[in-house]
Parts: sequence; C-alpha cells; structure tokens
Amino acid sequence: MILIILGSPGAGKGTQARNLSKYYNITHISTGDILREHMRNRTTIGVSINDLMDTGRLVPDELIIGLVESRIREDDCLGGFILDGFPRTLVQAEAFGTISSDMGFAINRVVSVEVNDAVIISRMTGRMICPDCGGMFNLAYYPPKIRGICDSCGAKLIQRDDDKAKTVKSRLKLYHELTGPIIEYYENKGLLLRVNGVGDINDVTRTIIDNLGEK
Ligand code: AMP
Repeated sequence: MILIILGSPGAGKGTQARNLSKYYNITHISTGDILREHMRNRTTIGVSINDLMDTGRLVPDELIIGLVESRIREDDCLGGFILDGFPRTLVQAEAFGTISSDMGFAINRVVSVEVNDAVIISRMTGRMICPDCGGMFNLAYYPPKIRGICDSCGAKLIQRDDDKAKTVKSRLKLYHELTGPIIEYYENKGLLLRVNGVGDINDVTRTIIDNLGEK
C-alpha cells in the first residue's frame, strides 16, 4: 500500500502516519525526520538547510524530491510506504507522479487530516515544555498542577518559539497557500480522503482505516 498523509502543522498527521504504518506494516517516511537527521549529522545537506529549517521555511523542491526518490528505492519500501511531510508543493506532487510512473507503482490514497485553524492555534499556543526534564503540558488540555511549573521536576515551563501565536499563524498561512493546490490536485485524481482530525487520536486512526479498508 502506498499512502500520502497531509495535514497542517499541529493537526496530528505525524501520529496518524505512525499508527497507519504499524497497522498496514508499511514504512513511515517523514521528510522532516530525514532533514533533521542530516542536520544532526552535519552533512553537506544538513549544513545548507540549517537556516531554512530554523525559520520554518521550506527547503528547495529539487533537494527534497531527490531525497524522497532515493529513500523510496530502499528495500524496506518494497512492501509499501506512507509519506508524511511530502509533497508540500505542487511541483513536488507532480514530480512524485513522474517518479511513481517511472518506478511502476501507483498511490493508493491521499489522506488529509483536517483540523480547523482556531483549534490548531489553541492546541499549539497552549503548549508548554519543561526545559529540564522535557515534560510537556498544554494549558487547554492537560495543564500543570501549578501554573507555569513542571509537575515532575518543579522547573519553570517555557513556550517554544515555534509555538508562539505569530509563528503558528504564519506556518498555517504557508500551509494553506502551498498545500491547498495539492489537495485539489489529488481530489481531481479521485485519490483524496478527507478525515476530521479533531477528537481522540485512536478514533481518528480507526476512521481512516475504515475508509481505506483492512490490511
Ligand atoms: P515537519 O517535521 O514535516 O514539520 O518538517 C520540518 C521542516 O522540514 C519544515 O518546516 C521544512 O523546513 C522542512 N521540510 C520537511 N518536508 C519538506 C518538504 N516536503 N518540502 C520542503 N521542506 C520540507
């Protein structure tokens, strides 16, 4: 099975991709993870994308298309895979179409995990993390017992720059501008499955599986 998962930042698409990869026993390919690994290992690619990644901008299409193409040629992708974070532009979607016909496979479905922007903003801007022990809290969903203080180690909680309202809003704007046309592209091909991403994580996974079919 070959799947693509789309969803705005904070919609929970990474979690859904992991659940679906386990259920269908297919390889989970997260382009964000691939790029972060390059940065950690300080490869030539990693060094060249440092600034783009830090400011939440997209890396060049040719670079990511090349990385995805070599990744899906690896043996663990023979039994199927789920792409998470790719394609993010129409150019990437079209290039992937060419790669798939060259390699002789077809995309089964494209799942769009949909969550209203207002919900995403409240989820992400409410997120507080502990700089000492890594504990995570959310002022709206699972607040710390004492406001601003980590339940586990007592350190002062902080908000990541990525989670500040202005950054979240600009990432959402970028997502809608770039990914809107991709959704339409796959809808026109009859491949799109829209799923409401609000609610319990496992219920959302179940809804996707009910629509995609059993293994
Ligand atoms: P993610 O973990 O999917 O949110 O990706 C983290 C960052 O990696 C993004 O903000 C982009 O800078 C970069 N990135 C990941 N996937 C792509 C892609 N398909 N095209 C361009 N940049 C990407």
